[in-house]
Amino acid sequence: MAKKKQTLEDKLSIKQETSWQDITKAQEKKIYDFSEDYKSFLSKVKTERESVDFIVEAAKKAGFKPLDKYKKLKAGDKVIFTNMGKLAALAVIGKEPIEKGMKVVASHIDTPRIDLKQKPLYEDADSELALFKTHYYGGIKKYQWANVPLALHGVIIRSDGKSINVTIGEDLEDPVFVIGDLLPHLSHKAQADRKMPEVLKGEELRVIIGNRPSKSDKDAKAKIKLNILEILNKKYGIIEEDLVSAELQIVPASPARDVGLDRSMVGGYGHDDRVCAYTSMRAIFDIGTPKKTALALFFDKEEVGSIGATGAQGGFFEMTVGEMLEKAVPNYRYSILKRAMANSRALSADVDAGVHPMFKSVHELGNAAKLGHGIGICKFGGARGKGGSNDANAEFLGELRRLFNKTKVPWQYTELGKVDEGGGGTVARFLSEHNLEVIDCGPALISMHSPFEIASKVDIYSTYRAFVEFQKAD
Ligand code: MN
Ligand code: MN
Repeated sequence: MAKKKQTLEDKLSIKQETSWQDITKAQEKKIYDFSEDYKSFLSKVKTERESVDFIVEAAKKAGFKPLDKYKKLKAGDKVIFTNMGKLAALAVIGKEPIEKGMKVVASHIDTPRIDLKQKPLYEDADSELALFKTHYYGGIKKYQWANVPLALHGVIIRSDGKSINVTIGEDLEDPVFVIGDLLPHLSHKAQADRKMPEVLKGEELRVIIGNRPSKSDKDAKAKIKLNILEILNKKYGIIEEDLVSAELQIVPASPARDVGLDRSMVGGYGHDDRVCAYTSMRAIFDIGTPKKTALALFFDKEEVGSIGATGAQGGFFEMTVGEMLEKAVPNYRYSILKRAMANSRALSADVDAGVHPMFKSVHELGNAAKLGHGIGICKFGGARGKGGSNDANAEFLGELRRLFNKTKVPWQYTELGKVDEGGGGTVARFLSEHNLEVIDCGPALISMHSPFEIASKVDIYSTYRAFVEFQKAD
């Protein structure tokens, strides 16, 4: 086919990557293979604790070791850090002194979900059902969580101090749980005029867990509840008070699946932001010994404002770099740590909104991400005039644009929505407090924060490639 002559308009106008069309057969195989690995990860890893366990295990297989296994750190050393079982970091020591700056990719491993209350279990005498009371976590549209099979993940700290891991609902043989909605026949008065955030209210997100009374104690006041307690006691050796010291999370029970007749997308729970966690983990395994020290951070608590010891506002990032420096620099001083941070560049790796075919009005289409056009780069987020956002420097955006164009990583420029439409924050602003360059980037999703989010396979792979190229580059 004859090559079309480039017009003046072609030459001067912005080029939108046409990711799928530019892809060769060989690349296509890599994209689909990567998606298979990612789907199996997404299907089984559904909480921040499980993410940390997965990352640590995979990192050990890839030759990473906890810091205390190293006396001194030298180029090529691969280090694992964790914090409270909910935050992880992986580092590959570069050829240059750490003081000259690191290449950081920071994602988050917490996802919107429905947590159990600390005294969750009760029996409703009128319906004769046993239920769990819940308190949701993160920004969910509550009605979406009704009538879908749900699983229970988490830990229970028993009175003897033992930590019990719980996963029920993921095996096809397992039972699942459900939040029941009201039948349409009877919802005219009770529900039809409610506004969207209250179609189901917070206190109505009650999870059905049982219907069968216990036969053990004929005088028991709540026999269905007692039966559940007996089951829990037999399975985990716990009593009701043990649930007070538990973190039990209700998440969608279904595995990740291919979406579309063309299998071009992956649907599943928790792309936000485990897609960036997984791709940045795989990326740091594949960069060899880079010039600059590479760091992948996997934060908790992003969905509730990055608070707490395991969130991006906690002291973990600084402490991690300090601990690395102590083992890498002979005369370590605090000023070296501050310089190492200030000379660093970071990607705040998080998902963005893809253009929704039925709600285009929320997007400014000229600056919105579309599924299938590669990793999105987003200079600022926030709301009401960039409020609360990290507005990245043009120089850093320029550096990334040059890098991704040179290494042929499909990328697109994106903004979350129209100027006054809404907004959102990421870990970027908290990283920027360390005086380093940071910008948001990640794949676009459809149905973000729902039990079944959609991402494009080409975007997932582009995200992985973007992280590899970023951390490999000088
Ligand atoms: Mn996110
Ligand atoms: Mn989110």
